[in-house]
Formats: sequence, structure tokens, C-alpha cells
Amino acid sequence: MNITVKQMIGTSLIDWEGKIVSTLYVPSCNFRCPFCYNCDLILRPDNFKNIPQKEIDSYLLERKDFIDGICMSGGEPTLYPDLPSYFKEIKNKGFLIKLDTNGTNPKLLEDLLKFRLIDYIAMDIKSSLDFDCYSKAAGIKDKILLERVKDSITLIMNSETDYEFRTTVVPVLHTEENIIEIAKYISGAKKYVLQNFSPLEKTLDPSFQKIKPYSDEKIQELSEKAKKYVPNCCWR
Ligand code: SF4
Repeated sequence: MNITVKQMIGTSLIDWEGKIVSTLYVPSCNFRCPFCYNCDLILRPDNFKNIPQKEIDSYLLERKDFIDGICMSGGEPTLYPDLPSYFKEIKNKGFLIKLDTNGTNPKLLEDLLKFRLIDYIAMDIKSSLDFDCYSKAAGIKDKILLERVKDSITLIMNSETDYEFRTTVVPVLHTEENIIEIAKYISGAKKYVLQNFSPLEKTLDPSFQKIKPYSDEKIQELSEKAKKYVPNCCWR
């Protein structure tokens, strides 16, 4: 099976609300979000050793009593065509699966949903759904990727699987209007989360380390305004 896991957080209490998970990170991504803090995993995946699947399996099975499942993150997991068979094996071992995705592979997502191979989806919506905004926030040049993001939103909202949409809010990329536009677009969604940008040691575009994030009060205010369209809107 062609899935390469490069990083793993053995026990995480924060990646899936109410669940204890092992979080797995796959390399590579088809986006280049300037605020991405996983930039080494995206740009220099060969700097990381592969974690043998046997090691992951034994970690999970030895802790089956308290680990509920895995969170598959990255990088972009849906770049891997073998994801459905990988998830099938994890499910056969009795674990739940959460998928973090940028939404650019609705076809694979459809298969995962159809065969009930995921229990929770967290999909990023990088900006309002017009190409000018999205290309800046996701660092993309290909309009097809945005169309695929829109298809994934529709697919997820029409599925029975539990989900959240989320946006990392960065002052130079997002105005209040952008956030309201996103909330309008996903009006009636089950959950929308605004994540305040936090400049870390590394960001894909180094100049983003100098950006001052919005205050918590401002993010809270944005989330209150977005509630008009998605009542279950929160921030963190
Ligand atoms: S979607 Fe953006 S933030 Fe997520 S891994 Fe890819 S480049 Fe980084």
C-alpha cells in the first residue's frame, strides 16, 4: 500500500473533539498556503524518515483500550489513491477515522463517503470562493482546484458523515467580508470553525512570521457574525 507516513503524534487530545487519536502526517500537498506551518513536510519530504506501518499498527493495537482512532493529516492525504484501502485496514482493526483535507479530490472523497471509510471530515476553506481570493490564500494558479473544492463542499454537506469546515484567519488574506462570504456559501453547514492564525517559527512564506494575528476579540466577533449563516460557528 502506497501511503507514506512521515510524522506521528501518538496520543492527541486536540485533533478530534471528544476523541483520543493518533495523528498521522503524510507528505506533499497541491496547495501552497503562505501561512502553512507544515512547510518542511510539503517542500522537503525527503528530510523525514518514513514511519514503518508495522510501528504504527503496533502502537495503535497496544493502546486499543484508550485510543479511539486516527486523524489522517498532512500534507494532503487525498493525493494518495491508496487512501481507501489504507483506511479499510485501519477500520478493520476497530479504529475510527478523521480526515483532514483541503477538498481538492472530491472523487476520492466520494468513495470514502460511499464506503463509509471516514467518521469525521475537517475540510479547510481557505478563503471566499472566488479565484482571486482563493489563489492568494492557497497559493494556487489552477482554477480547476477551486472547482474541486466547491464540489467537495457540496458533497460533504449532502453526506451523512459528521464534519466541520474551517478557515485559518490571517489579517493580510481575510477581511470581515471574506469570512461572511464563506459563511454564506456554506449556509446551513453543521459546523464552521475559525482558527486564529498563529505565526510560528516557520511558515511557507517566511514573511508571514511577521504578521500580527487578529485579536481573539476580533475572531470572536467574526464568528458571531458568521453565526447568522452557520449557527454552529466557533473559533479557536
Ligand atoms: S493545504 Fe495549505 S496549510 Fe494545508 S498542508 Fe497544504 S499547503 Fe499546508
